[in-house]
Amino acid sequence: MLIQKSKEYESLIDPRLLQAFKRIRRNARNGLAVVYVERDACGGCFNKIPPQRQMDIRLRKKIIVCEYCGRILVDKELAGVD
Ligand SMILES: [Zn+2]
Repeated sequence: MLIQKSKEYESLIDPRLLQAFKRIRRNARNGLAVVYVERDACGGCFNKIPPQRQMDIRLRKKIIVCEYCGRILVDKELAGVD
């Protein structure tokens, strides 16, 4: 369930990221926007992602949201896409 799912996310991510997450939930038509990291940049808006942030994405310990476009970022290799 979507509502249940977002409650889970709320407990996992910090308030600043949560705001971004809620923003894309409102904007994205399917309720979720996930993009891959490509060439050190966000696959959605192509802004550069700092190395530390890319590290967090690879570790997958928390949801990382692009600070520019608000999409959820996932590591391309770990996602099994090439
Ligand atoms: Zn972006």
